Amino acid sequence: MMRAFAMLGIERTGFIEKAVPIAGPLDAIVKTTHALICTSDAHTVRGAVGPREAMTLGHEAVGVVYKVGSEVRHFKPGDRVVVGAITPEWGSMAAQNGFPSQSSGALGGWKFANTKDGVFADYFHVNEADANMALIPDDVTPEQAIYCSDMMSTGFMAAEHGDIPIGGTVAIFAQGNGGRALARRRFDHRRRDRSETRATRA
Ligand SMILES: [Zn+2]
Repeated sequence: MMRAFAMLGIERTGFIEKAVPIAGPLDAIVKTTHALICTSDAHTVRGAVGPREAMTLGHEAVGVVYKVGSEVRHFKPGDRVVVGAITPEWGSMAAQNGFPSQSSGALGGWKFANTKDGVFADYFHVNEADANMALIPDDVTPEQAIYCSDMMSTGFMAAEHGDIPIGGTVAIFAQGNGGRALARRRFDHRRRDRSETRATRA
């Protein structure tokens, strides 16, 4: 058994005991080492996605791989990993068309603390582990890597799906961590554009 911090009902939370999850052939079980609380967790507890009972909260985590399924190729127990907050079925039509957040239905890529237990537990389950986890390089701390799970990836995806042109002017509403990641993404694009221009001139 393991400990988990769960939504017990609308506006009710607490620590509960749960069974350690089991990995299917493509899955991994990760031992949580660091996790962040997101505003989405607060919205969920207030009932934004409807009532939930004994559902583990949290979707932003890094950890150490505990077990992998028989078909997982790129990870092994002991690897330090960051896990995406959105964990799509990458073979779904939506994901293949470039919209992984919508895999298997509207917002179907969002599973943690929505349609399955989240990451605020001793261990959590990751579907399609080869595609939904990334190794953390030795020189990156868990405190740095954890911002890739949702904050950075949300901002980057907004910039990409918004198809913001190089040099385009945008308004960012609510300049929190996600907004700052979006702004950084555009800055990096512009910097790359300038260096390519210099290379062309040389
Ligand atoms: Zn989040």
